[in-house]
Amino acid sequence: MNFMWGNPPWRREHKMETPALVSSNPDVAVVGGGLTGVSAAYHLARRGLRATVVEACRIGDGASGRTGGIALEGTARGVKEGADTCLATLERVVRDERIECGLRLEGCWEIQHQGPGTPLPWDDGGKQIHIAKTVPGGIVDPMAMLYGIARAAIREGAVIHENARVRRVVEKPARLELDGAVIEPGFVVIAANAWISSLVPAARAVGSALTFACATEPLDSSTLDELGLGAGIPFYTIDLPYLWGRETSDHRVIFGAGLSFGSPAELEAMDTNSAEPSAVLDALEARVRRLNPVLRDVRFSARWAGPIAIPEDFTPILGRLPEAPNVLVAGGYSGHGVALSVHAGALIARAIIDGTPLPAWGSVL
Ligand SMILES: Cc1cc2nc3c(=O)[nH]c(=O)nc-3n(C[C@H](O)[C@H](O)[C@H](O)COP(=O)(O)OP(=O)(O)OC[C@H]3O[C@@H](n4cnc5c(N)ncnc54)[C@H](O)[C@@H]3O)c2cc1C
Repeated sequence: MNFMWGNPPWRREHKMETPALVSSNPDVAVVGGGLTGVSAAYHLARRGLRATVVEACRIGDGASGRTGGIALEGTARGVKEGADTCLATLERVVRDERIECGLRLEGCWEIQHQGPGTPLPWDDGGKQIHIAKTVPGGIVDPMAMLYGIARAAIREGAVIHENARVRRVVEKPARLELDGAVIEPGFVVIAANAWISSLVPAARAVGSALTFACATEPLDSSTLDELGLGAGIPFYTIDLPYLWGRETSDHRVIFGAGLSFGSPAELEAMDTNSAEPSAVLDALEARVRRLNPVLRDVRFSARWAGPIAIPEDFTPILGRLPEAPNVLVAGGYSGHGVALSVHAGALIARAIIDGTPLPAWGSVL
């Protein structure tokens, strides 16, 4: 399935061959080839388990290949027990597997439309933006990281099937039904983020939405300095109207904002060229142009949307189904999933292999 969600600036690694889908009975079947799914497969395979990932499209076609790639500690509800070493997990995986993904953990600015704080030379709708504080975090090329983890998982013996959509999940005994194949694993990991509600209808309420972003053309260093972005620190607002952004390795600046809610099927049908999403992206670009005079005539090199999953109280899902504990579910990280997804994959592997409890806050129902 090709989504009509525009193209992010991240380059896709074309050389990864994935085998054709066949029926199988691995130790663990993982539904979803985003950062959560490939990280779970990687951590499981490293410990000797036979892990198979089934991805409906290509890996990275969900949020993980469309994200802004700002790595943050903890969850959208703050740092929580069990989710307090997400950045360390990310750093470990990147270091152990020598993944070239431009990971830089020099912090992230929390910005707001008023003082106190250090003023940035940005006027957002008549209000000057200030840096309120710097929190732990940084930036990464998410597609390069995703492919790096996927390749490491395959090296460790995991199998990744692309274009393999799970049509039905049977919880007890665990069984996945796909077109032309059935997978009967010991455990199932549902790592489908914005699609969780379509696979686990009983899961607690998670809103699914497309969120929007654009990237400028590459900017020279004097323009970046003029914008106060010379140090390459990413940022997100802690008040409204929401805005987040970061510099890429080739000196474009990404800005993101806006949500368009819908069911997973409605999101799949959305086209960023159609009137409503296109108007959201036009408004985002116009807002960026007004931030500072040096951006007034800036050209944009990319505009796109990606699927995001937002639980009612922003607390992510990371748990087992109470009536079918061999089925584990992780996702719903809101805009705070780059580091947490990789960490969740590690926690899931530990839960399956060592029986380590998953955090109480992550309950599925
Ligand atoms: C535009 C955008 C910007 C963002 N920016 C940031 C940021 O800067 N920092 C941050 O921390 N977070 C950010 N996020 C959130 C973060 O990217 C996500 O939380 C994270 O990537 C989720 O990873 P995942 O693996 O759980 O989900 P996904 O990457 O969405 O993977 C889920 C996969 O499941 C697959 N799937 C669905 N249904 C089925 C099925 N039936 N069978 C098989 N496969 C299926 C999908 O195709 C998809 O590939 C952003 C998200 C978006 C969209």
